[in-house]
Amino acid sequence: MTSGSSFQERAQPIIITASHIYDYLICPHKVYLDTFGDRSRMNHETDFERVLWERGMAHEEDALKQLNLAVCEVEGEGFEECEKETLRLMKCGEGLIYQGRLSAASMRGSPDLLEKIEGESRFGSHHYIPTEMKSGSAYEDEEAGRYKLHYALQLSFYADVLEKVQGIKPKTGNIIDGESRVVPIDLRPFEKDYLEHIAEIRDLLSGGAESEPCIGGVCGQCHWRSFCLDWARERDDVSLVRKLNRGKRNVLRKSGIRTVQELAGLGKAKTLPVFEGISAKALQQFVRRAVVLKRGEPILHSPVEFPDRKLEVFFDIETEPLEEICYLYGIVERKGKKQRYVSFFADSPEEEESTWKAFWEYVSGLEDFQVYHYTSYEKTVLKGLSERYPCDLKLFDEFFQNSTDLYALVDKCTEWPSHSYSIKAVSKLLGFEYSERDPGGLKAAMWYIEYANAPEANRALKEKIVRYNREDCEAMIVLKDWLARKNTELQRKKRSGH
Ligand code: SF4
Repeated sequence: MTSGSSFQERAQPIIITASHIYDYLICPHKVYLDTFGDRSRMNHETDFERVLWERGMAHEEDALKQLNLAVCEVEGEGFEECEKETLRLMKCGEGLIYQGRLSAASMRGSPDLLEKIEGESRFGSHHYIPTEMKSGSAYEDEEAGRYKLHYALQLSFYADVLEKVQGIKPKTGNIIDGESRVVPIDLRPFEKDYLEHIAEIRDLLSGGAESEPCIGGVCGQCHWRSFCLDWARERDDVSLVRKLNRGKRNVLRKSGIRTVQELAGLGKAKTLPVFEGISAKALQQFVRRAVVLKRGEPILHSPVEFPDRKLEVFFDIETEPLEEICYLYGIVERKGKKQRYVSFFADSPEEEESTWKAFWEYVSGLEDFQVYHYTSYEKTVLKGLSERYPCDLKLFDEFFQNSTDLYALVDKCTEWPSHSYSIKAVSKLLGFEYSERDPGGLKAAMWYIEYANAPEANRALKEKIVRYNREDCEAMIVLKDWLARKNTELQRKKRSGH
């Protein structure tokens, strides 16, 4: 059964695009909903998505300039006119065709660049290979030589369309990455994956495949998030249990477990059943999460330890991911009952280095301290910056040796009645309130972009960012105190043998 009872009827023939491949890899149901879903139920596009798109276009133009590429840009009204022009340029043997349009066998594509190379085709002694321009790296893991799968499959899609158009299949495609490097990718090892994915996408778009939401980490960034969450809550769907993915849900369903309630019910048995594909440890965790979801109360199930230090430093940074800038270091210091907020703010990207220096100067004055942060993000970003800017490595090591990742403790020792364990979600469950209704780092990054463009006119945005950052630090204090309190209770219970 699909979640499409109220969905628009299919009126148009199927058209598959390269974006379907990217979306399918994120979540197959997104492909389905984008085609059949009721658009009035979509969350609005976020400011971040809009800016991301605009930056993508600007990146393409910058990369063309930097590489000094003489391209022939396809111009025309609508897809068909542009496609005719693309085919004309291909026949003429144009060297580099920018923003061409191609279609074949229900597939439509707009490869960023088509590059002419030698080799017989319908057009004569030459043919074309596709190039995509991306703002990030072409690699998932550059050292291991592993490319991003969605890039390789998108190029495979264009290679497929090109084969149908020119009569010869390109063996390679290129990615021009964020640093304007041209990275050639051999597409042959991806052929099997590509064919499987395209067949599944075709099935979904034709309405022939079953599709349902499966709540996961990616949903937070998806424009169907409210719709899918409502769907899952109405059904008490087991995917509401954190990290219970589509595959594991299928395993449970085969055994008749479809709801969180049914999964929680397994906790009453003396021994848990065995399910192929779910380890005993993972099942135990899922059952515990299901019980917590039903009870609505967070639990600490394993002990935690905090060092005894004079000064506690609750630390959070803010970054602008498009330019990869760290623009704010925020700290709430706590000494006994006294608290104070300290921040280091780069008013423009050019101030990133001086802000970095000021932050480390502050750190050098700290004594007998313990740092608390949430997730390893702070460490990763600061490590990257230490390779760009001068840094006292001894001080850097001391700072992170004296640090506790509160998220690591939450993940290992607690369960929460929420599918998200973000600091916002868990602190909200402890009664902490942010000033913003829907706070988030991406939202703060958007405010920063606007602020940095015109600081004088946007003072209020800077205040909002700083307040948001301070509140993240304060939320950590609420969480840390809860963990310490629960730990004392846990120890007491252990001692009394309960
Ligand atoms: S909200 Fe989640 S389940 Fe729904 S379409 Fe988006 S990614 Fe898929």
